[in-house]
Amino acid sequence: MKRRELIRGFIALGGCAVCAGMARASEGPHWEYKGEHGPDHWADLDKANAVCSAGGQQSPINITSAIRAEVDPITVSWKKSSAKIVNNGHTIQINMPEGSSISRNGKVYDLLQFHFHAPSEHLVDGMTHPMEVHFVHKNKKDGDLVVLGIFMMPEQKHDAFSMLARYFPQTEGAEGKVEAFTPSDLLPQGLEYWTYEGSLTTPPCSEIVTWMVAREPLKVEQVSIQAFTSIYSSNARPVLPINRRLVLMSQ
Ligand SMILES: [Zn+2]
Repeated sequence: MKRRELIRGFIALGGCAVCAGMARASEGPHWEYKGEHGPDHWADLDKANAVCSAGGQQSPINITSAIRAEVDPITVSWKKSSAKIVNNGHTIQINMPEGSSISRNGKVYDLLQFHFHAPSEHLVDGMTHPMEVHFVHKNKKDGDLVVLGIFMMPEQKHDAFSMLARYFPQTEGAEGKVEAFTPSDLLPQGLEYWTYEGSLTTPPCSEIVTWMVAREPLKVEQVSIQAFTSIYSSNARPVLPINRRLVLMSQ
């Protein structure tokens, strides 16, 4: 797929801030995960990225102490479907058709896309996981984002992730279509989570994300993790200071 089509594809998704960030990155200043265009320099690459350095609510974070609280449970309503899969130069992303959502505290957030990082972006007590998947949801009315992050570690056969791994487009800008799958197969058994207010973990680092990070990792096959790391082995933004934020933990 040509780059212009890729950009149009992101815009067609309806102005999702994560996607807009990706599109802008493709169009404008090039950013990376290391070197001159790496995370320490994202704010210098474009005025629109200023909050990457100046912000006080940045993501990811190292989750060290959390407060047990009565946080709202999540209701996941993800529908079985096929989907487009793209290699956008920063990650492998699955763009979901309309119809999947989560609800939390009576508010509905549509599932726009999910994508992967290796190693994990969030740390738990300083420890990293081999991978992390981000399910990006957006409320239609106010544009609020809720991202559900799930750690992934090698342990056992996992049909849904193995299937997706077979479709990973190898080259930047390449895309494909994955066969129908059930996204909730990518959830761990328990959905207890940590939650905090944060940001996009890619430029422009907008502080518009309520993060929910599942406490139980998803167990997948090592060979499927390698299918991702053979394409992207280091696409994780380093952790940022938590500052005055609280991390709450569902009970
Ligand atoms: Zn992400």
